[in-house]
Amino acid sequence: MDTAIRSAEILSVGTELLLGEIIDTNSSYLAADLASRGVDVYWSQRVGDNRKRIVHAVKQALERSDLLVMTGGLGPTDDDMTREAIAESLGETPTLDPKLEQDLRERFAKLSRSMPEKNLKQAWLIPSAQSLANPRGTAPGWLVTTRTNGKTRFIVTLPGPPRELTRMWELEALPRLPLATSALFTQSFKTFGWGESQIAEKLGALTLESNPSVATYAKRDGVHVRVAAKADTADNALLLAKEVVNKVETILEPVTWGQDQDEITALIGRALKTKGLTLATFETSSGGLLSHLLTSVSDAATAYRGGVVAYDMQAQAALDLNKGNDEASALVIAEAAAQRLNADIGLALYEDLTGSSENKTYFLAVAGSGFKASQKLVLNTSLPADWLRERASYAGLFLLWSQLRA
Ligand code: AMP
Ligand code: MG
Repeated sequence: MDTAIRSAEILSVGTELLLGEIIDTNSSYLAADLASRGVDVYWSQRVGDNRKRIVHAVKQALERSDLLVMTGGLGPTDDDMTREAIAESLGETPTLDPKLEQDLRERFAKLSRSMPEKNLKQAWLIPSAQSLANPRGTAPGWLVTTRTNGKTRFIVTLPGPPRELTRMWELEALPRLPLATSALFTQSFKTFGWGESQIAEKLGALTLESNPSVATYAKRDGVHVRVAAKADTADNALLLAKEVVNKVETILEPVTWGQDQDEITALIGRALKTKGLTLATFETSSGGLLSHLLTSVSDAATAYRGGVVAYDMQAQAALDLNKGNDEASALVIAEAAAQRLNADIGLALYEDLTGSSENKTYFLAVAGSGFKASQKLVLNTSLPADWLRERASYAGLFLLWSQLRA
């Protein structure tokens, strides 16, 4: 009989999740962990503290997934109904487990607190459940083994508080779960310069396959493209992915700036350090964001002399830095920034304040120590202001990186 777990779904319980009062970080943690172990998660949902609806969700999960991981609803109060709902779904009756009750009473005794009777339901078990220890809290979890439509199904209940949940998942639940042996290989390419649809077009049919899969994600530092392959072992997953990885790498080569965990500020910092160069910036409407990004990584911060934020035209005039609106002027300003702040390289990013209201035009330049590059960037003003600032600042960082990497 094959009981190996290949598919899972996640059910987060709690009305506060539906009201948007807390963010469901438990499900993203579990989803990422299951994915890394090669288990397919096809559904993840949130349900309020409502017994009928929890029962509905549990029954649905048992129909379609090998494993259901539930979080929350294990507290002692009446609105914590995960145990009751599972018992109802399976037609089983909870009973007080003497060992769990003793543990619970000892726990309260150790804290010199009397145990409210309401807590007793944290010592419940049903016939198909074994308990999962929780040294970080009062609520033990359950590992339920049952059968639906002739298939073995598992339910794991985990407490809501993340520090209790992660321990129980890793040390109590996972060692007891017969996960199908499989491994996931992933490689991400980080790009800047091409839009998401442009990239999708270039990748063509590659994005239609499911194993290896190729997916695009628009992020603040450009579009990330992730290749993922699943196989029985890590070596086989790598083998399966290889050809597609090579194809994607070739297609994205003109715009790729990094991979996987790479951060553009860290790459810049490392390059400045290696080359022994210092940097100064000049910026206007980005309001210091460029400076903020460059000082957020230690290598970059070490090489960074400082920057000028001349937010409006008056400030630019006062510094004698409002030049014409073109790339040549941007180069002059980048040079001036480097000279005045005694740095090797100047990076200038300023907005054309005389432009139309529909578009924002920025001029970017890198100058000094033999580097010379400039760029005109046009962004649509229908985008939110903070997005525009971010986009323009990252464009500045990428222009700098295009020079440093060469
Ligand atoms: P509960 O076990 O449902 O009583 O939840 C206890 C506490 O755990 C909540 O008050 C939250 O602070 C936290 N919590 C519950 N569910 C989640 C979740 N899905 N993601 C992150 N934190 C959660
Ligand atoms: Mg709750």
